[in-house]
Amino acid sequence: AALVSRSVRRRWRWGQAVALVRELEVACDTPVGRLRQVVDAMAVEMHAGLASDGGSKLKMLLTFIDNLPDGTEEGTYYALDLGGTNFRVLRVQLGGKGSMILSHKVESQPIPQELMTGTSEELFTFIASILKRFVQSENDGFQQLPDDRKDLGFTFSFPVKQLSISSGVLIKWTKGFSIEDAVGKDIAQCLNEAMTKIGLNMRVAALVNDTVGTLALGHYNDEDTVAAVIIGTGTNACYLERTDAIIKCQGLLTNSGAMVVNMEWGNFWSSHLPRTSYDIALDDESPNRNEQARITGFEKMISGMYLGDIVRRVLYRMAEESDIFLDPAKNLSVPFILRIMLLEKKCRHHPEGSSTNFLDDSPDLTEVGRVLEEHLKISRVPLKVRRLVVRVCDIVTRRASRLAAAGIVGMLKKTGRDGSGGVASGRTRGKPRRTVVVVEGGLYIGYTMFKQYLNEAIGEILGDEVAPYVLLKVSEDGSGIGAALLAAVYSSNR
Ligand code: BGC
Ligand code: MG
Repeated sequence: AALVSRSVRRRWRWGQAVALVRELEVACDTPVGRLRQVVDAMAVEMHAGLASDGGSKLKMLLTFIDNLPDGTEEGTYYALDLGGTNFRVLRVQLGGKGSMILSHKVESQPIPQELMTGTSEELFTFIASILKRFVQSENDGFQQLPDDRKDLGFTFSFPVKQLSISSGVLIKWTKGFSIEDAVGKDIAQCLNEAMTKIGLNMRVAALVNDTVGTLALGHYNDEDTVAAVIIGTGTNACYLERTDAIIKCQGLLTNSGAMVVNMEWGNFWSSHLPRTSYDIALDDESPNRNEQARITGFEKMISGMYLGDIVRRVLYRMAEESDIFLDPAKNLSVPFILRIMLLEKKCRHHPEGSSTNFLDDSPDLTEVGRVLEEHLKISRVPLKVRRLVVRVCDIVTRRASRLAAAGIVGMLKKTGRDGSGGVASGRTRGKPRRTVVVVEGGLYIGYTMFKQYLNEAIGEILGDEVAPYVLLKVSEDGSGIGAALLAAVYSSNR
């Protein structure tokens, strides 16, 4: 009798775990109707954010970039790209009209954890000295003449209120950063001072968000590029807006009649977003908890920093409410211990036509088991539980990518490129205009299913008539190379 009751209990608990996954699936559902509501909400919020400062959760920040690189740029430019996880230094050689980028070199390294929460002086001294080392290694016996000042593009992937193309104050930190004394400071000046102090004769010629750098390279390669999206540790988008639509800045004049606007869409919120109890708990416990929306915003539903933690929360609850993990799963209670990327990197997805989205190179999801063991210290996870883990990842990824797709179509709608408004809104001779959106970021590039789901959803929302005119292009290192290009465009020597 004891044996029977144990097996009954086990079956009940397994049912319990499956029920939790089903519940998650329902809560994360994003049918196309709901996505369209998100599209509309995004367009409405964009309008509101452009109408007045504080008019929306979308900050719709001015960038002062009215000219995107077009291929005529010439010379050697450096860029420094401070992202959410990595830090890159680059050198780009531009050959002028016709020859484009002659060569570029990138050096990348992770940002030491302690620098993310230290002082601004420590951070900027660190990045300036790495840049100096890079510049010196590039130029054997490098000796700078006093007047040989080099222009630098600085990609800074956080919300900045720009004062000019080459200056701007940090509004707040996002992702894992929190260096209190930097908030409110001119970030370009911080770097300029650090470079002076260590004897590096360079000046920030362009201070840009990573989305803006990405847009610059995208436009350099294809002039139908009108928007850029980052889906990595954090998420954001920028696009080219007509200056007369930027109502909060009346009388804004640019030669091109347009300006790049940094949306800071991580902060976007709408009641149409499918929010679960896990999102609510994540919001209450995450760093920068008041940031990127007090209530769960876009960033927390989409970007790499948070997706793994949503998965962890689901698994934790499953472990507590059922005994699907044979080992006590203590590590599951540690916030941000799981990166969703880990689970895909090792696990190739099935070729088309198969029923699950993940597949190990090894049979029977043993790699998933290995990742669970290595990162969560849960061993001996049975196959059917590994399958459940994969399903949880898939649900969370699918919601994220489909919401990002709705965000992209929202931008297209705002700029009249979603095919909804006929000739007045961007159709030429009855046909929608060719529109390119460049996408960058580790999650989009490295996570196969993310890209696939996102592209599928864009097709669903736009429909067969319009979707073929909207191209999503992957950009690699665009945020850094683009900053070097913008340094060239806005160089004082030009
Ligand atoms: C930042 C944005 C950035 C994005 C992608 C967000 O957390 O607020 O400025 O573009 O991450 O890196
Ligand atoms: Mg980056």
